[in-house]
Amino acid sequence: MNKVLLSACLLGRRVRYDGGGLAVADDILARWQSEGRVVTVCPEVDAGMAIPRPPAEIQGGDGRDVLAGSATVMERDGGVVTDAFRRGAELALAACQRHGIRVAVLTESSPSCGSQTIYDGRFAGHKRDGVGVTTALLTAHGIQVFSQHRLAEADAALRASPGAR
Ligand code: SF4
Repeated sequence: MNKVLLSACLLGRRVRYDGGGLAVADDILARWQSEGRVVTVCPEVDAGMAIPRPPAEIQGGDGRDVLAGSATVMERDGGVVTDAFRRGAELALAACQRHGIRVAVLTESSPSCGSQTIYDGRFAGHKRDGVGVTTALLTAHGIQVFSQHRLAEADAALRASPGAR
């Protein structure tokens, strides 16, 4: 059975920087869970970051630029957490490779998990187009990443994957 990678906070796990979760209620998610398809990760916590932790944003680009070495991930208080974000992305990729996962649903606008938007690095609540570090790494390895707002598209991609069932 094809599995799908899911941001742990979307199932309500309290792993976000502020100690909260998101708990998206959706029939597709519920079906995936009942089918045993879901593999959860939290790249930041998996990399050893604390709960709660300071908010972080990418400065100088997006997740692709972080992987290329031309952007950094900064905490609001000035801490540099680029290496932890890269490590979290690598752990998420390893989970995909372990389970043969080709489709992921990750939380929009996160500096790790965003797939269409991220915060712009000024810690002022403004978003820009771009992807998070984990999304950048998964995409570079051919994994399709969708946000929680595109679950129907993710479900279609899952069913269109090689050997889908
Ligand atoms: Fe959720 Fe991803 Fe942030 Fe973890 S890193 S709390 S899974 S958005």
